[in-house]
Amino acid sequence: MNIGCHLSIAKGYRAMGAQALSIDANTFQFFSRNPRGGKSRALDLEDISALRQLLEEHSFAPLIAHAPYTLNPCAKDSGLREFAENVMRDDLSLLEHLPGNYYNFHPGSHVGQGSETGISLIAEMLNKVLSPEQHTLVLLETMSGKGSEVGRNFEELREIIDRVEQKNQLGVCLDTCHVYSAGYDIVNDLDGVLTEFDRIIGLGRLKAIHLNDSLTPFASHKDRHAKIGEGSLGLDAIIRFINHPVLRDLPYSLETPNELE
Ligand code: FE
Ligand code: FE
Ligand code: ZN
Repeated sequence: MNIGCHLSIAKGYRAMGAQALSIDANTFQFFSRNPRGGKSRALDLEDISALRQLLEEHSFAPLIAHAPYTLNPCAKDSGLREFAENVMRDDLSLLEHLPGNYYNFHPGSHVGQGSETGISLIAEMLNKVLSPEQHTLVLLETMSGKGSEVGRNFEELREIIDRVEQKNQLGVCLDTCHVYSAGYDIVNDLDGVLTEFDRIIGLGRLKAIHLNDSLTPFASHKDRHAKIGEGSLGLDAIIRFINHPVLRDLPYSLETPNELE
């Protein structure tokens, strides 16, 4: 199984790889920059290439760089949309130094403009930022549908993908807490949910999993992660999930409120 957790980039790139190894992980997720701001670390190519070497030596599964939460490609304000575009372009160019990994982002919040407008603004940004030369797969994360979040269901993600020209650079990261909160019953009908995912998006686009339990009930449209087995999904459902033949080989990242140990 390819499993890791969310790590802090505070001590640098290679340090994250070493931390992952210390807990027997073979993948991990990290914020590409301050999750609530926009500042990125000074570019340290030596540190990045030290991580690359470590990833190769220990045959890691793909890593996930997570875009900051402040990035909103479908904001009302054009300045905020421009900020999102610049952050993503910068992050993707940095990730060219770590080729073959994933960049995950929350599609955005349409802030009252309607999901139709949101979807077209998100696709518009992706069309500006993606280029055929890039070696990073960009992942749209499934969202719980709180507030005006876009990506609350598989149809919305499909509509974004449909409007993007560089489709082969797009995938989906399924967050178990988010989909359950969004009303996909992965506890009692995992096969049904996967069939629906396949019909609407295509399982070929499913590239990574955020493995979280949920503090809130089914279809609550909230986004509160719980430790594995301590939420509304429960341990049995999570064990079935990670052993499902369609899901077992994907890279998993825990985003649970655990200490590293
Ligand atoms: Fe996320
Ligand atoms: Fe997530
Ligand atoms: Zn979440």
